[in-house]
Order: sequence, then C-alpha cells, then structure tokens
Amino acid sequence: MKNVKAYGAKSNDADLNMMEIERRDILANDVKIEIDYCGVCHSDIHQVRNDWGNSKYPVVPGHEIIGRVVEVGSDVKNFKQGDLVGVGCMVDSCQECKSCEDGLEQYCENGMTATYNGKDEHLGGHTFGGYSEMVVVREKFVLKVPENLDTKAVAPLLCAGITTWSPLRQWNVKKGDKVGVVGLGGLGHMGVKFAHALGAHVVMITTSPAKAEDAKSLGADEVLISKDEAEMKKHANSFDFILNTVPVGHDTNPYVALLKRDATMTLVGAIDEVDIHGGGLIMGRKRIAGSLIGGIKETQEMLDFCGEHNIVSDIEMIDMDSINTAFDRVVKSDVKYRFVIDMKSLKN
Ligand code: NAP
Ligand code: ZN
Repeated sequence: MKNVKAYGAKSNDADLNMMEIERRDILANDVKIEIDYCGVCHSDIHQVRNDWGNSKYPVVPGHEIIGRVVEVGSDVKNFKQGDLVGVGCMVDSCQECKSCEDGLEQYCENGMTATYNGKDEHLGGHTFGGYSEMVVVREKFVLKVPENLDTKAVAPLLCAGITTWSPLRQWNVKKGDKVGVVGLGGLGHMGVKFAHALGAHVVMITTSPAKAEDAKSLGADEVLISKDEAEMKKHANSFDFILNTVPVGHDTNPYVALLKRDATMTLVGAIDEVDIHGGGLIMGRKRIAGSLIGGIKETQEMLDFCGEHNIVSDIEMIDMDSINTAFDRVVKSDVKYRFVIDMKSLKN
C-alpha cells in the first residue's frame, strides 16, 4: 500500500481540500498510472454534494483521467511503462455476466466498480478517483490514448466523450439525420462535435442565447433557444434523435414535442425525476430512453475515432487549488466547456 496526495471533500457541505489516500500495491493484472490531467465532470459535483443520496465520504472525485504507465503487474499484456493511458468512470466489473460478456461493463449485473465512490474490493471501503497523483487500475479498464492529440484536452473524452458517443452510435445517428443536443456543457459540447462528425444536421438546444456562436463553431448547424416557444414550435415533430444532457430533473415535454414519429430522446444528464406526459409519447409513437457512459471496447473505439478525426474537448485548465471555484462555475453553466486539472499543481 502507498499513501498518495489527493483532493477530496469530507462532507456534503465541505470544500475540497488536500488529503492523503491509500492505493493498493499492484497485482498481476494491474497497471499503475501517474496522473497528468483529470477533467471535472458535473457528476463530481453531484457526488461531492450528495445530490444522488449515495455519496460516501471522503469523496475524492475524478473519472476523466489521463496519465503515463509507471509500472505493470506480471500478467499485464497490453501496456508497458511510459504508455499514455486513460481511465474513465469504471475500474472493474464481474467479467462474467451477460452485460460484461457483451462488452457493456457499465451495466454489469453484479455492479461495476465506479472509479470513485464504488466498493473497493481490495482495500475495503470505497474507491477514490482521479483528483490525485496516482491510481492503480485493472488492465481491462485502462484505455490506450492516441499520441497525436492534445493530451490535456483528451481527458474529458473519458466521460463526457463516451457518454455522448455511445447513445449517438446506439441510436444509429447517421449522415443527414436531424439531431438535437440539449445543454451546452461538458457533455453537450462533445455531443455536438460527435453528431457533426457523424454527418448529422446538428441543432444545439440551449437555454443560453450567449452560447449560440460557440455552438456553431463547435459544429452546430442551427441553434434553438429552448425558452423561445415560437421557435420551439417551428421545429415541432422534426428531429430524428435528441440527446438530452440537462443535469437536473426537468420538464421533458417541450423536447419530446420536437421528435418525429418513432424518434427517440435519450437522457444522459438527469439522474433524477423528470416530468413526462404520456400523451406526448403516444401521439407519434415517440420514445424516451436513458444511457450510462459506454463499455470499455466502445470507449476505445471512441478514442481511436478521435485520434483519426482530430477531435478533443474545448477546455479551461486549472490548478488543483482552484477546484472549489471551478465547481461553482460549472453549476452556473460558466465553463467553456470542460475544466481540466493540471495534476502537477497537486504534486508540487
Ligand atoms: P454541465 O457542464 O454543467 O452542462 C450541463 C448543461 O445543461 C449546462 O451547461 C446548461 O446548458 C444546461 N442546463 C443546466 N441546467 C439546466 C436546466 N435547469 N434546464 C435546462 N438546461 C440546463 O454538466 P455535464 O458535465 O455536461 O453533465 C451533465 C449531466 O450528465 C450531469 O448531471 C452529470 O452528472 C450527468 N452525467 C451522466 C453520465 C451518464 O453516464 N449518463 C455521465 C456523465 C455525466 P445551456 O446553458 O446550453 O442550457
Ligand atoms: Zn462524468
């Protein structure tokens, strides 16, 4: 076991502060990673503030991890010292159930191990995330990162990237489809980039008129202000697919009204109660669905696609000690479009 520096919160109303956590000695299948960068996901804030009622303290968040391999276990085949790697929202799963067999470890029927706030099978207690110097992860859950991309801006792909990529692929978004992305934050800006790269006609659906120009430069063909009822009406029954990243419970009816017959809106943000009127679905055989991150194989495919198409996140770099201000800014939708922590600032 090794003590390493980390940043975490001791209760739901405490700021994040420096603390020490333990990492296990590497096992035969483990990879030890020195962390260079970690993205700041809205889920980190939900967990620190116990918005979902399941937080365990201290919470050391962080599941958009980029770093270099410093040591590998004796049975590790695919990684060696010096490799550039990523870790996302999961660090383990049973590897035996149907979901794991299908490469959908995020839906592991025995419960996947979340990167933080998951059950730590090795040391007991719960897992600690990437707001730290170093992490030890089972090889199976380590991703290869293309070397041609800006490494700092790759970090958010490990959660914001895969969480938007997976539903766009699952619902078969293709050239010419009219696709809406609701919410221009960390997830939303990746949703726009990916839908655009897949050839869709992308409409950014936002509450923030001030973000319109950015949305277009990220790849949106049109911008729809969701508070403008007349504009919303003009787009009624016209979307092939909508990806909804709104981070809180909300009235989904205005968005369902935008879907074509038989089309789907997939929620990724609102892990919460949402309002939905059955009539809006029935009149048009419309669907509302959900999606959780993506499997490991699919995450690797997404990273490889990004390497080939030169896709990364738009980021604002911060030092570790600015994290509490960064959290407040994310909650105010004031980030362009993902904070990434430079982990050198924790190590020095
Ligand atoms: P974020 O950066 O805060 O972006 C969310 C965006 O939603 C905001 O920028 C804002 O965009 C819009 N928004 C905020 N409050 C709203 C409201 N009340 N009504 C309508 N729109 C609102 O958050 P994120 O990091 O992208 O994460 C989004 C959500 O996804 C979080 O709840 C996070 O926990 C969840 N998440 C889920 C998964 C999964 O696997 N399903 C994975 C990662 C994260 P505009 O200003 O453009 O309106
Ligand atoms: Zn996340």
